[in-house]
Amino acid sequence: MAIVVQKFGGSSVANPERIQRVARRVVETKAAGNQVVVIVSAMGDSTDDLIDLARQITDKPKAREMDMLLATGEQVSIALLAMAIDKLGHSVLSLTGPQVGILTEHVHGKAKILDVNPERLRLELDAGNIVIVAGFQGATETGEITTLGRGGSDTTAVAVAAALKADVCEIFTDVDGVYTTDPRVVSNARKLNRITYDEMLELASLGAQVLHPRSVEVGKEYNVPIHVRSSFNYNPGTIVQEVVDEVEKDMMVRGVAYDLNVAKIGLFDVPDKPGVARTLFKALAERRVNVDMIIQSAMRDDKNDIAFTVGKDDLELAVEVVKEVNEAIGAGGLTYDADLAKVSIVGAGMVSRPGVAAMMFEALADEGINIDMIATSEIKVSCVVSASEAKRAVQAIHKAFELEGDVAANDEGFKAG
Ligand code: ADP
Ligand code: ASP
Ligand code: MG
Repeated sequence: MAIVVQKFGGSSVANPERIQRVARRVVETKAAGNQVVVIVSAMGDSTDDLIDLARQITDKPKAREMDMLLATGEQVSIALLAMAIDKLGHSVLSLTGPQVGILTEHVHGKAKILDVNPERLRLELDAGNIVIVAGFQGATETGEITTLGRGGSDTTAVAVAAALKADVCEIFTDVDGVYTTDPRVVSNARKLNRITYDEMLELASLGAQVLHPRSVEVGKEYNVPIHVRSSFNYNPGTIVQEVVDEVEKDMMVRGVAYDLNVAKIGLFDVPDKPGVARTLFKALAERRVNVDMIIQSAMRDDKNDIAFTVGKDDLELAVEVVKEVNEAIGAGGLTYDADLAKVSIVGAGMVSRPGVAAMMFEALADEGINIDMIATSEIKVSCVVSASEAKRAVQAIHKAFELEGDVAANDEGFKAG
């Protein structure tokens, strides 16, 4: 008997009708002879609503209490889905992350899953139950409730699939699969039939919301096939796996991603001597600020400028740290800007092709969009631009690489349901 893990995102369980529709789909999978574990997110925008509620109480909620609050969102949807499946006459039970044994590190708001204990799940599956698991949450060794970061239910699903050695992890969402870019920004973006873990990981880390980056990492590590598809139809979606067909590999750029959660801090006239960068970035790391792009300018008069980006949530804390470091090392002051975005192209095929970055810069130049920072790796090029220009930048780049349109003739391989 195959084990199928299905994850339904917030929009798929946004109201009672949708929950009933999900229930029918889950029951179909069970009736087809599979053991089924279902992971659900909180209903619709309810996680945002809980965050708003907290803000009405305080500007600075304790991270522990925030997790206690946000974890309730998923508890609502698991119970309702279990009720809907029960009404259809199938044995079912819902379990929270801690009940399943989803063990996380002791970090609130962005905990990593350390282990998933498959025992309880196996027991329930073998007893013939459909099991509904709350996404996005787990518990530390000492029983503290944690959450995995926004969009983290995807990671719960893939981690559960890995622990159970499931045959597939299906991620049901409100689009038909992974597209060459966000279909909300480019309406004629093209659906990809297959994408490699590495490319998907880059796209997800660079802002493509459709999968939580950590879920792709876990999928790669445990070789879990991930099928991203729509909960509103039966169209085949996108398979995320280790290798893609030769033909698809030829696509120089597979996707364009954007991230509006970007803030930049610049530190001026930093003395040019060993250990300065260490002091700055160690201080940031000690306060758990995630630093993304880093640029150090060419030296002049024994001084450098260092600029780096962080997520907007971390800006206040990062500025505090940089002010301290500025004093400590005798630098010349700092500036910051939160109205930025990062636009990126991703594709394993770009390694062997010179000129890809230049094509991206040209597309931006033709639109009169200024580039603030640039970062490259073997399979991506990222540019920081002003936030107000991000969507126009994505549209121009998508067009320049001719990613739009129907599925190309060589890209129609995948037909399985
Ligand atoms: P869920 O609630 O199901 O987890 P999300 O909102 O987290 O859904 O993710 C789905 C959304 O991701 C889509 O509605 C789409 O706007 C966005 N998205 C961004 N980039 C892409 C992409 N490359 N392919 C598909 N969807 C994308
Ligand atoms: N409910 C959480 C969020 O809105 C987790 C998820 O949807 O994956 O971020
Ligand atoms: Mg999501």
